[in-house]
Amino acid sequence: MTTKKVVIIGGSIAGLSAALVLASAIKGELSFELAIIEKGGKEADLYKADVYNVPLFKAGINGEEIIDSTKEQLQKLAKVNFIAGEVTEISGEKGNFMVNGTGFSEKADYVIVATGANACNIKGLESFVKPHTLMPKPGKICLEVGARNVIKDGIYAAGIVSGVTTMVACAMGSATESACAILSDIAGNVAVIHDFKGSR
Ligand SMILES: Cc1cc2nc3c(=O)[nH]c(=O)nc-3n(C[C@H](O)[C@H](O)[C@H](O)COP(=O)(O)OP(=O)(O)OC[C@H]3O[C@@H](n4cnc5c(N)ncnc54)[C@H](O)[C@@H]3O)c2cc1C
Repeated sequence: MTTKKVVIIGGSIAGLSAALVLASAIKGELSFELAIIEKGGKEADLYKADVYNVPLFKAGINGEEIIDSTKEQLQKLAKVNFIAGEVTEISGEKGNFMVNGTGFSEKADYVIVATGANACNIKGLESFVKPHTLMPKPGKICLEVGARNVIKDGIYAAGIVSGVTTMVACAMGSATESACAILSDIAGNVAVIHDFKGSR
């Protein structure tokens, strides 16, 4: 049995979407220990939106509803450790990261950074911060990523911090790509997770 610990920083739509994909991949010989660290305070851009343009979302759904229902869906697939706090530092390397913040210190094999476009003050990532050129407001940032959202080996960006256009569906797609990139890294080959009729 292979068990990988993934720490996700940011518990809005991108962080939850990445967790959902990884949780859905838990079966047979592969398991994940998932932790989502969220600093709270409703800074997430998602809390500022009423959403009418995402397929299958109820018209006009707001951020609280999206987060609550996605958490409910997630918890049906896996036990997730939700940690309240702000991440201030990532150190170490793939397979042996330490994610530190206010009152916690989490070990991780992989880290997903889903911190949005408002700021990224995490020690260890400073050199990757750059202006977010697809956001029409001043002061918005993203992180320099390579193929498949890799920031550096074992650390992935997800959502608008990866530089995608600021739309909920783009944030979800980016997060899904990062989760599948982790699945591929573990498999040593291209990996996706597809359910089919009656498979659960
Ligand atoms: C006014 C407004 C209206 C919008 N309307 C629409 C719309 O109609 N349709 C649409 O598709 N999109 C809309 N959007 C865009 C959409 O809200 C964003 O694209 C989406 O929320 C991005 O998701 P995300 O998870 O990447 O980032 P965010 O939703 O910004 O979440 C980032 C999360 O990371 C957390 N975080 C940050 N740093 C740390 C840290 N160091 N430690 C722990 N946690 C941390 C934050 O607290 C936050 O919860 C709107 C945006 C705004 C501002």
